[in-house]
Amino acid sequence: MLEKVVIANRGEIALRILRACHELGIRTVAVFSEADREQKHVLLADEAVCIGPAASADSYLNIPAVISAAEVTDAVAIHPGYGFLAENADFAERVEQSGFVFIGPRAETIRLMGNKITAIETMQKTGVPCIRGSGRLSEDNPEDTARIARDIGYPLIIKAAAGGGGRGMRIVHSEAALKNAVSLTRSEAAAAFGDDAIYMEKFLEHPRHIEIQVLADEKGNAVYLGDRDCSMQRRHQKIIEEAPAPGISEKLRKTIGELCVNACREIGYRGAGTFEFLFEKGEFYFIEMNTRIQVEHTVTEMITGIDIVREQLQVASGSELSFRQKDITINGHAIECRINAEDPETFMPSPGVIEHYHPPGGPGIRVDTHMYQGYRVPPYYDSMIGKLIAHAENREMALRRMSMALSEIIIEGIKTNIPLHQRLVKDAAFKAGGTDVHYLENKLGTK
Ligand code: ADP
Repeated sequence: MLEKVVIANRGEIALRILRACHELGIRTVAVFSEADREQKHVLLADEAVCIGPAASADSYLNIPAVISAAEVTDAVAIHPGYGFLAENADFAERVEQSGFVFIGPRAETIRLMGNKITAIETMQKTGVPCIRGSGRLSEDNPEDTARIARDIGYPLIIKAAAGGGGRGMRIVHSEAALKNAVSLTRSEAAAAFGDDAIYMEKFLEHPRHIEIQVLADEKGNAVYLGDRDCSMQRRHQKIIEEAPAPGISEKLRKTIGELCVNACREIGYRGAGTFEFLFEKGEFYFIEMNTRIQVEHTVTEMITGIDIVREQLQVASGSELSFRQKDITINGHAIECRINAEDPETFMPSPGVIEHYHPPGGPGIRVDTHMYQGYRVPPYYDSMIGKLIAHAENREMALRRMSMALSEIIIEGIKTNIPLHQRLVKDAAFKAGGTDVHYLENKLGTK
């Protein structure tokens, strides 16, 4: 097993990784910014190294600082969590070149999947279904672009190949708007991601977002851990996730799961990953692959009983996965609400001191959070301060448990989106299951 791991992240995921490490007897090194001295995982880690000022660019995204922290503490591996450097192929490469284990796939896999255009091309080759799209758009051929757009059909969506986090996308409804939209998206992509490669695909009007969790080791074993529905989104950002996806038959789940496992084998995938799909009228369409642990891994853990972070650590240490596909069974239903420090009406971030915190409890309730009473939510990072997960024997009971937990939890001193979640778990369409990715924005009237 790995002896000592640097956790190159913050917040709830850093704490989640720390717990998985300590359970396995792995020592931990927290790396933190000056704004994060009081983070729970920093206080609990075996060692902690300050890697720079509050701004992410100077700390959590500072590759030399993270690698030096591993050097000075004699760590053997680095876990990137999600966000920050998790899908940065150059980082993965430098970690390995410096003699450490990167807890994730190989750098070349991250590079291949990190570019949405090469990811889609790879999936097409391995037989994973994709949306009708353009491939990379050439810069100086607007007539060609217009022709491709007509072939795909409007509405369509222009996307940055290097995009992520819901940014770098633009919907186009007619040819009149195409030229302008293409050039805007291209310049935004260059500014935001340092890569101006863009492509177009058919914009689906009523898709659900359904994804497949996979795990693979370096001994040739790969499995899928069922699916998750993450359709409840605002600005392309997930806020509620659940597993299994409502209304998907066992047969369909197996078909798409096996296609993903096959793709993992073809690309020599290692570790945990997620194939993201849009699902419309009974068909799955690949949109992208996340080569890291995801926020919503918890709901899969609850229904499979598998600790995905532990498996990541085990695979990184060179061990085999501790189970095979036939050992995986799905037990009940789990739902996750992302708790954000933000105004539930305006969605403006609401940093500040948590003056009072009372967590919910009871059977089937899991709270993954780094918050505690007196903790100051800094203004510099993502506003997610925790995840509330409810698991039960079926979806209806999981929703009831979630509803109770949302009425029990108390967070004072800052604003949170808990009132929004309370509304959503009572929403008739959500309760029925299977709402599409546009549902929330339509309901909020922001569309
Ligand atoms: P990111 O990498 O920024 O997360 P994705 O490509 O995963 O971007 O897309 C995020 C979300 O954007 C999807 O879950 C979906 O809601 C919406 N979206 C993306 N592509 C399409 C499409 N072709 N049609 C309709 N909605 C889409």
